[in-house]
This record gives sequence, structure tokens and C-alpha cells, in this order.
Amino acid sequence: MSRRKQIYEGKAKILYEGPEPGTLIQYFKDDATAFNAQKKATLDGKGVLNNRISEYVMLRLAEIGIPTHFLKRINMREQLIKKVDIVPLEVICRNVAAGTMAKRLGIEEGEALPRSIVEFCLKRDDLGDPLVAEEHIHAFGWATPEEVDEMVAMTLRINDYLRGLFSGIGINLIDFKIEFGRLALAEGHQIILADEISPDSCRLWDRETNKKLDKDRFRRDLGNVTEAYTEVATRLGIIKPSGPNGKPHLSVVSNEE
Ligand code: 5GP
Repeated sequence: MSRRKQIYEGKAKILYEGPEPGTLIQYFKDDATAFNAQKKATLDGKGVLNNRISEYVMLRLAEIGIPTHFLKRINMREQLIKKVDIVPLEVICRNVAAGTMAKRLGIEEGEALPRSIVEFCLKRDDLGDPLVAEEHIHAFGWATPEEVDEMVAMTLRINDYLRGLFSGIGINLIDFKIEFGRLALAEGHQIILADEISPDSCRLWDRETNKKLDKDRFRRDLGNVTEAYTEVATRLGIIKPSGPNGKPHLSVVSNEE
């Protein structure tokens, strides 16, 4: 059996060559890192949960017309995706002050922002993914002004939709990070949503208690990280509340759902 070719290994995912030209396989690892990989751990089952949660979110976003790289889930840890040229920017959208923004601007964590704010960070691990202005993006050619406008418009739509989706299951979407890619077309290219959307890349707080249901549990040593991700998956209906042995289990949900 020929081993498939690894294209890239990141902190939480591996990309392999896909079965058809223009496709890749995205594998979700159990590895967790924070603070530019200074803190590391393996969290049993995290990859399985993120694969399922990201699949669910990407499918819902496709339904409202957001173009995404997601094609189908292959198994518990892998999904087939469209091959894109990743825009070297992290696009962050915030509704409530938290994390680096709260620290940078001296705002108390948990304070609602006057409106949703979109930020860009350069994808450079060696520099700690620095915040950049649109001026930098245009001047250094990381994305054109038109691409930036498209990414901002899509991000705000994604934010509107996801706020509603999570609100429906008693969760406040505090902020999230997404990435976009350029999909090659016969003529030119199209900007599409890539990477993943999961509790690794979002801040999700329980509406009643403000309990953190996201990667901050790992970053801040709050414990019960996979339990929190399981809670998100359960509330989304991806996981049945309890399996035959009394433990939550992953239900079989088709890609077409
Ligand atoms: P902050 O800038 O406050 O650390 O993060 C803002 C939001 O973007 C949070 O939801 C955080 O999880 C997400 N985020 C920022 N940088 C990264 C990153 O490098 N990887 C992941 N997975 N999420 C990130």
C-alpha cells in the first residue's frame, strides 16, 4: 500500500495529498498548543471533536452561501477539502473584549464591544502572529484591497450567523479566528473559507454562567478541556447526550444533514 504524501504539519492538523487533483485530506490531531507552542499537551479525543464540530459549522455556513474548502468528512479524524493557497493572515472577529484585545487596550474581559470588530494578524509563528493594519496588508501584498473587503464582508456574515447558531444553544460567541484561501479557477481565483472553526479557534462562553467552553480552558489551566468541547458538540446535536455505557458518544450524522 502506498503511503500518502504529507503536504504540511501544523500544531493541531496535518494536511495530506488528496485522492483527486485539487483536493487535500485534513487530519485533526489531539495535540494542543498555546502561547506560540511554548505550552503543549495531548488531549484525548480533541481531534475527533474538532473534526465533527468544524464539519458541522462549515456545512451550516455553506447553506447560507459562504464558500468553504470543506468537501466531506472521511472518518473520525479526517476530512476531504479543496486545495487552496492560504492567505497569510488570521482574521479575528470580536464581539466581547477578551484575550489579547482586552490586554492590549486595557478593557476588562467580558465587556461588550460597541460593535463587532475585525482584526488581522500576520501568520508568522516566529513573530507570534503580530496584529497588522490594512495598510500593511496592501503595501506588502499579503492580500489586495478587494480581497480584504471580501474577507471582512464574509467574516461579518459568518459572525452574524454563528452568533445566532451558538445563541440558540445557550452559548455567547465572544470571538473567533478564521483563515481564507485562494481557490484557483479557470480564470483567476476565488477567496473561500479554509482551515477550521472549532473551540480551538473560538471563544465560547455559556450564556448563564460565563463558563468557558473553548481552548482558554487549556491556555489558562482551567481543566476539563475535552469535556467542554464535548459539551459544545452535544449542544450542537453532533453528540448524543449519553451512549449505552452512560458516556457521551458520537452519533452518526450524515454529511448531507
Ligand atoms: P486572541 O487574539 O485574543 O488571543 O484570540 C482571539 C480569538 O482568535 C480567540 O478565539 C482565539 O482562540 C483565536 N485565535 C487567535 N490566534 C489563534 C491561533 O493562532 N490559533 C487558533 N486556533 N486560534 C487563534
